[in-house]
Amino acid sequence: MKPTNPVFTGIDTTVFETMSRLAMAHGAVNLGQGFPDVDGPEDIREVAARALQEGPNQYPPMLGVPDLRQAVAETNKRFYGLDIDPMSEVLVTSGATEALADCILALVSPGDDVVLIEPLYDCYLPIVKRAGGVPVRVRVTPPGWQLDRQALQNAFSDKTKAILLNNPMNPTAKVFSDDELQFITDLCVRHDAYAICDEVYEHLVFDGLAHKPLMTFEGMRERTVRIGSAGKTFSLTGWKVGYVTGPAGLLDPIAKAHQWVTFTTPPALQKAVAFGLRKDDGYYQTFEHDLMTKRDRMAHGLAALGFTVLPCKATYFLTCGFAGLGLGRTDVEACETLVKQAGVAAVPVSAFYGSDAPTGYIRFCFCKQENVIDEALARLSVFLTAARAESA
Ligand code: PMP
Ligand code: GLN
Repeated sequence: MKPTNPVFTGIDTTVFETMSRLAMAHGAVNLGQGFPDVDGPEDIREVAARALQEGPNQYPPMLGVPDLRQAVAETNKRFYGLDIDPMSEVLVTSGATEALADCILALVSPGDDVVLIEPLYDCYLPIVKRAGGVPVRVRVTPPGWQLDRQALQNAFSDKTKAILLNNPMNPTAKVFSDDELQFITDLCVRHDAYAICDEVYEHLVFDGLAHKPLMTFEGMRERTVRIGSAGKTFSLTGWKVGYVTGPAGLLDPIAKAHQWVTFTTPPALQKAVAFGLRKDDGYYQTFEHDLMTKRDRMAHGLAALGFTVLPCKATYFLTCGFAGLGLGRTDVEACETLVKQAGVAAVPVSAFYGSDAPTGYIRFCFCKQENVIDEALARLSVFLTAARAESA
């Protein structure tokens, strides 16, 4: 038999699915895969339910339901001052994952360099490779996650077609500073490169920080596509509704990729997301405040147990060092110990690197109900106390 495509053949199942399966098998509290354990706003779900009942449930326009495209353009203006034409500069996709695939397939040609900043969200590398792109990896490393500007500069050349930037960043919970974004802007402009901005955590930013899209920097509007996700903004991760905003000249080929990948996204969900995006500022503020409270609850608990909790400015995630806790030599071992013996699932941070990964950190997801966070902390406490007693 002829070989199947090497990019996907023999590749591991994603770490998120793997840890969720292990969590289920061991009855563990699942703080691995990033998803809230309470569904998003009831009124948004009601709009979807009504739209499902009333229909039509047929193919919506390929670019997305016009009302949602309009709402995406409005939110770009409202939060970032960006003027976006809803009809030619917005595309609705089946989640940010599809949006990423569409953007990479449409912008990258075989042989093009694509600059990626590790740790990487898991779909970036395979899709860039499948598109024939040459991944050029630069990394940020714990505990500081500082961008190595010299390394980034060295990664850019005239062969660079695009940089793929995840800001706010999973799993580091880093928000790139204005200075760093300006540095990236200068490189993109100097080397005539596109920026594909994965901004799914745009509305999950804490401590009074505000998200600033790279697209708002001078010289970037015409060379940037930015990706959002209703799953993240409205705690409805299973809906898989995403959106791409970008200049018409880039959006057109991206929409052509989309038409052969999924073509459309369920219309009832699109109508409900349009309703959601128009919620008043109170929704967005309360959402961030609630997440921040959960972050603090989990961070304090983990620190009290002896984990080294790194600063978290955004996203769903806390990254922690586990040195001295007796969980194992590597992050993979630590996660295995935790899920099997402590009954708590986390994710090894090394899974977000292509090679030579740091192995001393694990990621906990904190967008959970307070009693679930407390239960996880209690289980960790019991396990760590017993482990300490055994080794004494
Ligand atoms: N990008 C990042 C950085 C993510 O963490 C996620 C998480 N799901 C996605 C993209 C995918 O988003 P969606 O579920 O909308 O496909
Ligand atoms: N983005 C989620 C995370 O980082 C996972 C999404 C998925 O499982 N594909 O945990």
